[in-house]
Amino acid sequence: MTNHTLPLALLLTFLPNMTYAADAIPDVVLAIHGGTATQVDEADRPFAQQMRQDMEKALKAGHAAMHKAGGTSLDGVEAAVRVLEDSPHFNAGKGAVFTREGQNELDASIMEGRTKKGGAVASVKVIKNPISAARAVMEHTPHVLLGGRGAEVFASQQGLEIVDPSYFWTERKWKQIEEYWKKESDAKKAGGTPRVFDGREAGTIPSTPFVDSGRATQDYEWGTVGAVALDSEKDLAAATSTGGLNGKMYGRIGDSPILGAGTYADNEACAVSGTGQGEYFIRLAIGHEIAALMKYKGLSVDAAAKEAVGQITEAGGPGAVIALDAKGNFTAPYNTPGLHHGYIARDGQVKVMLYDEQ
Ligand code: ASP
Repeated sequence: MTNHTLPLALLLTFLPNMTYAADAIPDVVLAIHGGTATQVDEADRPFAQQMRQDMEKALKAGHAAMHKAGGTSLDGVEAAVRVLEDSPHFNAGKGAVFTREGQNELDASIMEGRTKKGGAVASVKVIKNPISAARAVMEHTPHVLLGGRGAEVFASQQGLEIVDPSYFWTERKWKQIEEYWKKESDAKKAGGTPRVFDGREAGTIPSTPFVDSGRATQDYEWGTVGAVALDSEKDLAAATSTGGLNGKMYGRIGDSPILGAGTYADNEACAVSGTGQGEYFIRLAIGHEIAALMKYKGLSVDAAAKEAVGQITEAGGPGAVIALDAKGNFTAPYNTPGLHHGYIARDGQVKVMLYDEQ
């Protein structure tokens, strides 16, 4: 961990309700996140550089999709997330983390703010771009969420690309699950309780779970991806895609495919995509909570998102969101040491911020 991250981690230890975010940024048309960040390691600089490039590429792809004839915010968030799913540098699509059994199980959802229609897939293993399958569920079925084999069969019937499960494998994430297995077996040998960060401990994790002796741990390298967008018709959309948690249980589903938790869009309030430990987002209905705080309490998107992330902190979980209102005000609060995120403004300016960069 470099010097500039350590004070943040230490601050979190003493100020558990602290939420980090710059003031809201105006005139944003598309924003993305690449997951919460836990460490700045010199060895990771080249990896971070590649993440930055892929995030810029995702923003440009999303922007182009919104600006093609008939393009919408829904097209923008789908296109941006597809780029991040195709990149091996994030925990979504290729590069997803592994379950305890050493498999990749992917979750994704998408939602549009005008109609409040949405679609999602959960626990899928062979769909190359789960976000496009989520959109197909929204547009071509009477349902909202399809899981497992049924979602895969549907995606293949829709002509979406199907891949061998080995396509999602990356060395970096395989090393993470190997470390997880090692920690678990070491803990067992020592007669202690294995450190399992798969949600079974949700609600019992200490208030600073991501700080281990002053150093953030690999267990909390999240890397879920998401996008929020506002088009020229003033329609909002949100999308989120993930491999979930490293070492999660077989069949565990997080917040990313749950509308109202990890993804939400309502033209009367905002579009939201979250990252962090999904169990907290589900229990606190974070996406909907932010929209509700805006609609019924009159909070700004910035205040509402910070309040919701504060609730996650109080509950003892790590979490972050990106949120965009119908006027283009963008905010990205987090209670973790950092959040990889970026945006593209109305004037075309592209900005990507990794770790705790503001
Ligand atoms: N929220 C995701 C989940 O719990 C994980 C993440 O954000 O990286 O599945």
